[in-house]
Amino acid sequence: MPAKAIVISIGDEILYGQTLDTNSHWISGELDNLGIRVLKKITIGDTKTDILSNLKEAEEKADIVLLTGGLGPTNDDLTKPCLTEYFNTHLVRNEDAYENIKEIFEKAGWEMNESNLQQADLPANCTAIKNSIGTASGMWFDTEGKVIVSMPGVPFEMKQMMTDSILPRLKAQFVSDGIYHRMIRTIGIGESKLAELIKDWEDQLPNEIKLAYLPTMGAVKLRLTADSDTDLVKESIQKQIDEVLPIIEKYVYGFDDEEIPNAIGRILQERGQTLAIAESCTGGYLSHLTTSVPGSSEWFRGGMIPYSNDLKRDQLGVEEKILDEDGAVSEPVVLALAENVRKTINADIGISVSGIAGPGGGTEQKPVGTVWIGYADKDKSVAKKFRFIRNREINIKYSAIAAFNMIRINLDKD
Ligand code: AMP
Ligand code: MG
Repeated sequence: MPAKAIVISIGDEILYGQTLDTNSHWISGELDNLGIRVLKKITIGDTKTDILSNLKEAEEKADIVLLTGGLGPTNDDLTKPCLTEYFNTHLVRNEDAYENIKEIFEKAGWEMNESNLQQADLPANCTAIKNSIGTASGMWFDTEGKVIVSMPGVPFEMKQMMTDSILPRLKAQFVSDGIYHRMIRTIGIGESKLAELIKDWEDQLPNEIKLAYLPTMGAVKLRLTADSDTDLVKESIQKQIDEVLPIIEKYVYGFDDEEIPNAIGRILQERGQTLAIAESCTGGYLSHLTTSVPGSSEWFRGGMIPYSNDLKRDQLGVEEKILDEDGAVSEPVVLALAENVRKTINADIGISVSGIAGPGGGTEQKPVGTVWIGYADKDKSVAKKFRFIRNREINIKYSAIAAFNMIRINLDKD
């Protein structure tokens, strides 16, 4: 039987709808990866009675209770006093937590005050969990075979604590036979088409391997899961991946955690090629995704945002005549942008995006969501028209993903 967990998010701002509870979403995924079953996710405010009663109920029902939020130095954050009361204990100064806070303040050049110091006072029965990027220490409580862990609400602090210390400890204490997931990442094919294509393969999958289709923006992930992570199971899943790959190869851009920008970076680096971007309607988003990939300086030369027509003309040499006759959202414009940005920035590959993100600006011939993407390398230039049908924000995101896929597809033909 897998260990059971309850996740409690604490904070008035979540109940007011001002903060989206992303913590419990992320934590659930991580626990699932370990094979720990999440029974419930609960959201409560910074209210003493609610914190105490939910703690009690969760401890009765689950083996693991994970709390986030309510650990700030101010009076509105109540989780620590509640835990102290819950365990009928008192606060003691924790030297490790104290040193950590001191170090953070020294590094930043800030002055410490009394409330910062008090963050180093922890319930006497807990072990401190180091927070290397913030002042609120995590707290780990062992109670008769069960575990209660309290973490700060700030998502990146919580994630670092979970990854560095809490997940490994939970794994050691509660997981004997983990869950094993592999992911095949596809792009450029819809969920139902993909299912049709791999039907025979799916039908012959052994019972112990479960398949899930996980559609996200413009891409579908195929997740293969088994209830155990022995070498035998890992081999068996790899065998299934090897069998399905030839059928879907042209849609597969990567595996497991590799997102499309990372995959493009890997491919370009392997080939020793560089990229330049001219993006209009994505307004820098494509370049942002590109530079979010660690090591992108190895293969990304730079980008331009020729948003207005005169910049398209003056910076990137798109002829006035083309802009007048075909409009900025057109095949000849993205071709010229891709070719010229490649030359201007001196890269092997140029990619360009020009479209109507919405909500205004659409016409009958070019409705909102019409996006042209251009690709150029030393041998060829190609362009493709897309029609996205969502709102401005999502159309921009889809355009960026489609642009990465344009690079992938055209590189493959080299
Ligand atoms: P706290 O530890 O309560 O001081 O939380 C600090 C900040 O973390 C809050 O102001 C929120 O912006 C953020 N936060 C708290 N709980 C969550 C949550 N469940 N999901 C995402 N962000 C959160
Ligand atoms: Mg709070």
